[in-house]
Amino acid sequence: MSGSLQIARLFGIPVQLHWSFSFVVLFILYMGFEKNMDAAQLLWLSLAALGLFVSILLHEFGHALTARRYGVETKDIILLPIGGLARLTKLPEQPFQEFVVAIAGPCVNVALSLLLSPYLFLVLVPGLEDRPLPTPDSLIGDFFFFVPFMFSMNVGLAIFNLLPAFPMDGGRVLRALLAIKLGRFRATQIAVVLGQLIATAMMCYGVWSNNYSYAFIGIFIFFTASKEFRWVKTERVLQQAKTGSVARTDFTKLYRNTSMQVPYSLLLRNQERHFLVFDEQDHQVIGTLSEGDILKGLKAGSPDARVSAFYTEGLETVETESDLKTANDKMRSSGADILAVMEEGELVGVVDADMIQHYLKLRHRLPAIGAG
Ligand SMILES: [Zn+2]
Repeated sequence: MSGSLQIARLFGIPVQLHWSFSFVVLFILYMGFEKNMDAAQLLWLSLAALGLFVSILLHEFGHALTARRYGVETKDIILLPIGGLARLTKLPEQPFQEFVVAIAGPCVNVALSLLLSPYLFLVLVPGLEDRPLPTPDSLIGDFFFFVPFMFSMNVGLAIFNLLPAFPMDGGRVLRALLAIKLGRFRATQIAVVLGQLIATAMMCYGVWSNNYSYAFIGIFIFFTASKEFRWVKTERVLQQAKTGSVARTDFTKLYRNTSMQVPYSLLLRNQERHFLVFDEQDHQVIGTLSEGDILKGLKAGSPDARVSAFYTEGLETVETESDLKTANDKMRSSGADILAVMEEGELVGVVDADMIQHYLKLRHRLPAIGAG
């Protein structure tokens, strides 16, 4: 996400902090100044913010590491002041898998609460006999109530995330359950409508109670839900087309010793953007040269450079008979810009994201055309 700063890489997943997190720091400083806090209160508030931050981070890793068990990788985890976001490279498709991945996050918060709960029985309850319950103001700075505060925060996170407001975790759980009976498309439709109703209620409540963080979360849910629904609609269209029907069959073959001028002039004329690279000797595909590689070559500025200096080794393939969604998923999860299209072990064409976009545009204008 733009405006995010990578702060760590855990289990191979980049953890990004969104710039709006600086508001949290400003908020703590403002509170400290406005309420004339002493050092202990400022420390308490900072530790509470840090504890909340760690709880949200662990929640997101709950999703990411569970998804990994089903072979779905996570591009990155973004931490925003209103919560976290684990961006999976694709969504688990089996309803059961989506159910487990979605519920894993809130389960982490339940587990954290359970870890903290011995303190409640062993320290808090006996200690309550000779001290009053804190008010919101007296709570800050009182370390006796710090663990109970973190406990209630984690219970709150679990409950809040389990609200059936798609695309929040509870909404995903609901969609997964509905999808078992109704299929993914219909289940998403229902979950999205329910999610948007709850989001609208949150926005109204936020404005009515002057608690604008609810309003922001409501707006976020509302728009993410419609975005996801558009994506599910697109997915359905992609599933109805065969890769072979959109693949380009007359593509330019580059060899290792081809001059970089060749792909550059094709790119300039807007004919092809990504290429397959072949070996001169055995004419087998050995890698790809993407638009990014070509631009890198141009920046390096050597006019007689060869493809061999800039191409990327390795190749992702897709069968002519597989649907476009499979091709699209493969590009997203591998980061490849172009796929080799195979039929019975033979290379018959190439497909890239532009061709898929082009197909979607046509389908959008002429819903009746069929492909494959
Ligand atoms: Zn979650």
